[in-house]
Amino acid sequence: MSESPRSVVVECPAKTNLTLAVGKPREEWAGRHELDTIYCAISLTDTVTVTEKPADTGFSLELDGTHLGDLASSQADMRRNHAVLALFAMAKAANREPNVGLSITKRIPVGGGLAGGSADAAATILGLNELWDLHWPAERLRQVAATLGADMPFCVTGGYARGTGYGERIECFAPDSPTATDLRAQGYAGSLVVGAYQSQLSTPEVYAAFDQIGAGEGDANHLQKAAVSLHPRSGQAIDAALKAGASHAFVSGSGPSVVAFTPTPAIRQAVVEAWKQGSCVDRIIAASAPAVPSITRHGDAIQ
Ligand code: ATP
Repeated sequence: MSESPRSVVVECPAKTNLTLAVGKPREEWAGRHELDTIYCAISLTDTVTVTEKPADTGFSLELDGTHLGDLASSQADMRRNHAVLALFAMAKAANREPNVGLSITKRIPVGGGLAGGSADAAATILGLNELWDLHWPAERLRQVAATLGADMPFCVTGGYARGTGYGERIECFAPDSPTATDLRAQGYAGSLVVGAYQSQLSTPEVYAAFDQIGAGEGDANHLQKAAVSLHPRSGQAIDAALKAGASHAFVSGSGPSVVAFTPTPAIRQAVVEAWKQGSCVDRIIAASAPAVPSITRHGDAIQ
């Protein structure tokens, strides 16, 4: 009897930042800015499948999805895909050969300020922890993730968390913690809509604009003014969503995507109509928050 190869499927949520305070760039962090942020994972997910391959066959990567952005043209450079970098980092940390097939279905807009690449890296780390039966705790997985990028440790856990350092130092807030309760009471939970764009914003360019013009008065996301200066339609989408009754509407991270929390179905409909009528966004994606990654194993042999 031939057995199908073992695989693990991980649904990994996108992130947004409910607040994002940007401090000074720090030389010892290769010029990265000091951050203090409240991360929130949203139920817009990429699906990453990690599958075992025979010894000495190396890794493979398949990508699908209708909105692959610059990934569609950079297929050849698959070694720089964040999921592949995560595979190599885990293989090194676990002293394993990277004989693994990676398959990614992308739904998170690429280069949209929603940490899609980080979500794929986090999904790979979570998937390999299962595939290789490592049983590493979240803290150890986050340590591997931190070697790869600022948002990746958060994406390993999801939910709500505070991020400090350059975003990589994570304090998670359990659903029943006072901070999570307070965030829910402020309307940062439940139904939301994401306004997404065909165009991408480069995170370093948004930080460079921030260094020039600073944060907008009263903006919870210090990068919002810089992102809107480079991509004015994001500003139009925020104004339209707030006018339509959204409890919060803001640029997600470094943009250009916009997140609007919609406390009732009627308000959600009003935001969608306003965005459509004003052509403020290219795509509208319904989601909810907070979300956590989900992990499913397939093909385990029955003894
Ligand atoms: P950042 O994480 O830099 O703030 P972002 O959240 O705006 O970025 P991502 O979707 O993570 O956007 O994409 C940033 C860049 O990372 C893209 O231009 C893309 O070429 C590259 N990248 C590498 N691997 C991936 C991946 N698996 N998914 C998305 N982008 C990836």
